[in-house]
Amino acid sequence: MQELKYFQHYPENLQAQIRQLISTNQLQSYFKHKYPTGHQLQNQQLLYQYSTEIKQHFLKNTPRLNSVSFNKHTDMVKGTLGTHTQQQKIHGKKLKARYDIALNNQLKYAPEAILRALIVHELAHFKHAEHNKAFYKLCCHIEPDYHQLELDLRLFIVLDEQGLNFYK
Ligand SMILES: [Zn+2]
Repeated sequence: MQELKYFQHYPENLQAQIRQLISTNQLQSYFKHKYPTGHQLQNQQLLYQYSTEIKQHFLKNTPRLNSVSFNKHTDMVKGTLGTHTQQQKIHGKKLKARYDIALNNQLKYAPEAILRALIVHELAHFKHAEHNKAFYKLCCHIEPDYHQLELDLRLFIVLDEQGLNFYK
């Protein structure tokens, strides 16, 4: 099944459950039940404030967050749902870093918890560049339900690609 490309690194029994959910058309009811409504962060300013609050609370000593926007198309082959780019700017004698976060535009109309997980993921990269143990530990520190939410994020992409995104 084509959709399973998003879940290749999950255990086989979990993949079987996901296949079942999709093939029996239960994906939409799964989302309706678990996440009845979508977030209200379509506005870029609100999205920036929301992300900055998480950053200030959990990642105080990291480079400045410059912007957050929904302007990325998914590259699920690489498994990326968002990106962060770092710019180095010289202010006087100081080298200052700042980050821009681009989120998959499919997340513009999505459950808040899922959007939050993606923001947490991108913010955690401010500290850890690689997807290693320390990286996921930080994600789970910020968002204890991170692993489940990342799975739901992938399921949400399938929901959207199948034209079943009812948050729009
Ligand atoms: Zn990443």
